[in-house]
Amino acid sequence: MREALLYERLRGGLVRCNLCERRCLISDGGRGFCGVRVNRGGTLYTLTYGNLSAVESRPIEIKPFFHFWPGSTALTFSSWSCNFRCPWCQNWHLSRTLPDEVRGLDIPPGELVELAVRQGDEGICVSFNEPTLLFEYSVEAFGEAKKRGLYTTYVSNGYMTLEALKALREAGLDGLKVDVKGGEAEYRRFNNARADVVWRNAREAKAMGVHVEVVYLVVTGATDSDDLIRETVERHLKELGPEVPIHFTRYYPAYRYHEPPTPVEKLERAYELARREGVLFPYIGNVPGHPYENTYCPSCGELLLKRYGPILVESRLAEGRKCPKCGAEVPVRGPVVAKKPRWW
Ligand code: SF4
Repeated sequence: MREALLYERLRGGLVRCNLCERRCLISDGGRGFCGVRVNRGGTLYTLTYGNLSAVESRPIEIKPFFHFWPGSTALTFSSWSCNFRCPWCQNWHLSRTLPDEVRGLDIPPGELVELAVRQGDEGICVSFNEPTLLFEYSVEAFGEAKKRGLYTTYVSNGYMTLEALKALREAGLDGLKVDVKGGEAEYRRFNNARADVVWRNAREAKAMGVHVEVVYLVVTGATDSDDLIRETVERHLKELGPEVPIHFTRYYPAYRYHEPPTPVEKLERAYELARREGVLFPYIGNVPGHPYENTYCPSCGELLLKRYGPILVESRLAEGRKCPKCGAEVPVRGPVVAKKPRWW
């Protein structure tokens, strides 16, 4: 066990965890909502440090990041549990497991980064379960990654505190993919949480210079109403502006939620609505081969980045990340990397 960062000692052995916006009050011997932070004698410890659930190289497009180092791979790692309880969780075997129920991989952050360099990955990524719960390890790994010239990314529900977000940025966080899980009512209903926090963090991360992309999982019967999708598009434009990509991804039944998968036409309608309202880079996710997986020039419609699922098939971006037809600049962070992911 490692002593946690970001907590306060209160009276009577009580502590307040300030890692995510649940800000749990934890009495001596108790754990926070996520189950991975424990109070022992008035000191808060993390149970995830040095206990990774998975480590593997994956294409950056699978996160998905579509405007960040296209075609690159990131050594991706995870821990256990979650600070949310989405009933349709695709990674429930990780998010519903506590770190002391199993023993994972104990790899020091420096060795993990060394592995990424040896494998030829351009970056590292904390993903699969909620990365915020691996905060202390992430901060150290990011520091090591920066020393070796690698990028660093989080695939997150965006529910960390601003203190945590700032600390991650200071440690070198380059890219944040944020899941938006509906409006205030859906956040309350499924997670007893607040949508405002997630939008605030996406906005603040962008203001700090972090590359941000948004994913909206269109869950049948939960987050798929036309009104909610319109509200999300409007909020996206207000908080993040037209250039930040938004991915409407297809839901499949998982864990405790068994409604049918999202009809593709619904995703297409969401894409087209976003485009009409002014989002320059909407995408459809989890529908391999669909034309709305590709990046098109927002000025002239030219195909710029062609994808098949998480694979970058072709890049037609000209020097300076410009459209080769009309010369419009396209916001893409980092170089386009031409290589085939090893796992494919
Ligand atoms: S990370 Fe969030 S859920 Fe976990 S103990 Fe801290 S405040 Fe609570």
